[in-house]
Amino acid sequence: MSDNPRPTLSIPLKYCTFEVWKAQRTVATVFPSGHTCAGTRADTEQNRTEAESQGYTGPGETIVWRSLVEHELLHNLLAEVVYDRPSRVMETESGKAFHPSWLRYYEEAQVLAAQYEINTGRDAGLPDEFPWMLESRWKREIVPVLALLWEKVE
Ligand SMILES: [Zn+2]
Repeated sequence: MSDNPRPTLSIPLKYCTFEVWKAQRTVATVFPSGHTCAGTRADTEQNRTEAESQGYTGPGETIVWRSLVEHELLHNLLAEVVYDRPSRVMETESGKAFHPSWLRYYEEAQVLAAQYEINTGRDAGLPDEFPWMLESRWKREIVPVLALLWEKVE
């Protein structure tokens, strides 16, 4: 790292900035308050299997990285696009605010299902009470963003 390291990509969102640090294989959600949630994921057999279960295909190292980048970004994007609020998971993990585990699991399920649906084009089978699944707005807005992002950090 240089003395003044900068992220490979920095995406200003409504409630946070999403950073991708390609060389470090790290992503970060940075709130205006400075609270930060950094994420990394080791290239292990289990993490490759997890990425494949989300519909990612390709070399193991690539799909583990891509599933991490898109997972962390989707936490922020879905919260903003669908609910117009910050990600409850990111707020909790950064220490900015606390949200109970059941609300965080709800968000996790939505993010993982979104990854599966984007990658496979198939319904993830979440119950109908997940209202965003009934809409296509999130796909129209988010899928092109993911494609653009991946071009820059692959
Ligand atoms: Zn998550």
